[in-house]
Amino acid sequence: MKTQLIDNFNRKITSLRISVTDRCNFRCFYCMSEGEVEYYDRLEILTFEEIKKLSEIFVGLGVDKIRLTGGEPLIRRDIPRLIRQLAHLFIPRGDLKDLSLTTNGFMLKDLAEELYSAGLKRINVSLDSLNPDKFARLTRRDALHRVLEGLDVAEKCGFSPIKINVVAIRGFTEDEILDFARMARTKPFVVRFIEFMPLDMDNRWGEIKFIPGEEIIDKIDAVYPLEPLDTSQNFYAAKRYRFKDDSGEIGIVSSVSEPFCGSCNRIRLTADGKLRTCLFSLNETDLKSPMRNGVSDEELKRIIIKAVNNKEAGHKIHTTGFVKPKRSMSMIGG
Ligand code: SAM
Ligand code: SF4
Repeated sequence: MKTQLIDNFNRKITSLRISVTDRCNFRCFYCMSEGEVEYYDRLEILTFEEIKKLSEIFVGLGVDKIRLTGGEPLIRRDIPRLIRQLAHLFIPRGDLKDLSLTTNGFMLKDLAEELYSAGLKRINVSLDSLNPDKFARLTRRDALHRVLEGLDVAEKCGFSPIKINVVAIRGFTEDEILDFARMARTKPFVVRFIEFMPLDMDNRWGEIKFIPGEEIIDKIDAVYPLEPLDTSQNFYAAKRYRFKDDSGEIGIVSSVSEPFCGSCNRIRLTADGKLRTCLFSLNETDLKSPMRNGVSDEELKRIIIKAVNNKEAGHKIHTTGFVKPKRSMSMIGG
C-alpha cells in the first residue's frame, strides 16, 4: 500500500500544482506589476527531468491530480514534451485521475492540438473580461480576440472540460457576470468565478475589490435559475451549481469570503523547486537543492512528508496578524 500524505489536521493531500515557469506574457493587474519584472535565472528553474522525478515521488505518495501552471505554462519551451512524458508515465498506470493545465489562453491557438495529442485532455483558461478594452486594461495586453480564437481551437480539439476562470472585480467587470453566465449556457465551458486574493505584486488588495461568490450566484440565479450540485463526495475548491434548465454549470471559488482550508487537499511546487503547503505559506521547503545534491528518493520522500505534516491550518487573510507572502501568484503557481 502507498504511503499517503496526511497532514497534522488529518487532511489527505492528493492534489499537486506544478509551476513550470514564473514568466508570463500578460501583466494582469491583480497578479503582476506592469513594468519590468525580475524573473528567476533559467538555471534555477526545474528541468523537465527534475519535474518528472518529483512528480513520480509525489504520485508514489498518493497524489492523483497534477495541474501544470505558472506564470504562463504555455510559454515554457517545449511544454507539449513535458505533457507527453507525464501522460505516458502516469495515465496507462492509472496513477493519475487528472492531468490538467491552467493558461491565459494566448498560446492556445498555436498549441492546443499538440497539447491534446500529447495527452492533455482538460484545461482551465483564465478570462476575466469579454470586452476587448477592459481585457486590455486588465491584462495590459490587447489580446482578447486571440484568447477567444484559442478557446475555439481547444473546443474543436476535444478538450473536456474546458473551465473558464474569472476573477470578477467590483466596479470593473461587475457588469459582465451575466455575460459569463450566458457563455456557460451557450458554450461547452464551465465558468468559475474566483475571488481576488492578496497575492498581487503591487499590494493593491483592499483597494481593488473582489465580488463575493454568493453575490455572483444571486445575480445569476435571478435571471438564470441555478441549483447547487452535490459535491460532498469529492473535494472541490469550487462550489458548483447547475442551471435548472440543464444548460450548463457555474462554479465559485470563494477563497476569501468562505475559505475551504479545513478540507484543502493541495500542495504546490514552484518553478524553482520549492514545496509550498499553502498559497499563503510564509515558509517553503527546498526540494531542488537536495535533489541536485543527489539525495535518495527515500530521503526526498521524508522531506516531503515532514513538510506536508506541517501544512498550515488555513490562511489568515481576515486576521490582524495576516502577513502577505513575498511571492506573488505568478511566482507561486496559482
Ligand atoms: N498564467 C496562467 C493563467 O493566468 O491562467 C496560469 C497562472 S495564473 C497565476 C493562475 C490563476 O491564478 C489564474 O486563473 C489567475 O486569474 C489567478 N490569479 C492570479 N492572481 C490572483 C489573485 N491575486 N487572486 C486570485 N486569483 C489570482
Ligand atoms: Fe500572467 Fe496568469 Fe498572472 Fe495573468 S494571472 S499575469 S496571465 S500569471
